[in-house]
Amino acid sequence: MKQTSFYPGPSTIHPSIPSLVKDAYDTGILSVNHRSSDFMELSFAAKSQLRSQLNVPDEYDVIFISSATEAWEILPQSLTSKTSQHFFNGAFGLKWAYTTENLGVEVIKSPCDANESLPTDQINSLGDWLCVTACETSNGTMVDQNVLQELFSRRLPHQLIAVDATSALGGVILNFQLADYWFASCQKCLGLPAGLGLLIVSPAAIERGLLLGERSHYNSFLKLVENARKEQTHYTPNVLNIYLLWRTLASGPSIEVTDRRLRDRMARLNSIIQSNGALDWLVSDAYLRSPTVITLKISDPMELKERALTQKMILGNGYGEWKENTVRIANFPAMGDIQFQIFMEWISNL
Ligand SMILES: *Cc1c(COP(=O)(O)O)cnc(C)c1O
Repeated sequence: MKQTSFYPGPSTIHPSIPSLVKDAYDTGILSVNHRSSDFMELSFAAKSQLRSQLNVPDEYDVIFISSATEAWEILPQSLTSKTSQHFFNGAFGLKWAYTTENLGVEVIKSPCDANESLPTDQINSLGDWLCVTACETSNGTMVDQNVLQELFSRRLPHQLIAVDATSALGGVILNFQLADYWFASCQKCLGLPAGLGLLIVSPAAIERGLLLGERSHYNSFLKLVENARKEQTHYTPNVLNIYLLWRTLASGPSIEVTDRRLRDRMARLNSIIQSNGALDWLVSDAYLRSPTVITLKISDPMELKERALTQKMILGNGYGEWKENTVRIANFPAMGDIQFQIFMEWISNL
């Protein structure tokens, strides 16, 4: 029997992928030039599907890139004149701050505890960008959309907001109007093989790009936007993943349905955790927990992982400072309800 991976990315992919890969091959789309009308139609179809399924505002641009890490670079490279403020409570948010620093941008680090809400009262007037990680995959926290709303209301007129939505996009409802630069890679909540990133940007972000006029890199923001508006890319893109994105979204439910389904699974797991003495949430405040990455405290994570493996279940290691005392479990949409149920029954009988 095949193992079920609850690793939070790369994770279990949609079960329909093998047949969709064959479809992609059969249609011939994998062999066409990325300047051809066939590719342009695919690009349009995939983006339209994404827009309607995830409620992306019409005036926002959707751009294909190759990873979230690439989006970390594009922001300081093409869209930041001087300073970037980073709010974070875990490893991915910190890496983003380092990436920005390494590109010569001044970084204001505003860390907080995993059990605290994002300190929206600490906005520094020097920041061109306020950077937030929607779901911190390393510890299972989430910035609620109401907190993002607070940041949005408190920002100064020259400040834009960037959100790393890698473990959120496709899993939870996002209000895109609350930020200007959203990005994700596809191997988390979108349930695809790795190697495609999405950038979703507001008119204000485009304006900022035009103001700075940076064009010296292969992935300079303005080049990305100009090509995306023609349904093209200036490098050869991951056509297979774009095809898979389109088809999996087209056969999937709306984000409202998915969001409810994940929160419902999370609530059922919560009642099991509460009656289990060996396991506890890393994030004690339920309001701060991500519905997509479940992080549980346990005294011996290795032992739990080994026991899970005998049941053909792969649990995720803890990450960074939580490596020795947590396990992580992906509650991503591509994971079937039946597999999740099997996992919960196993947990409840520990
Ligand atoms: C996985 C992850 C990334 C990195 O994604 P890549 O596809 O490896 O670039 C960045 N941010 C968060 C929050 C993630 O979970």
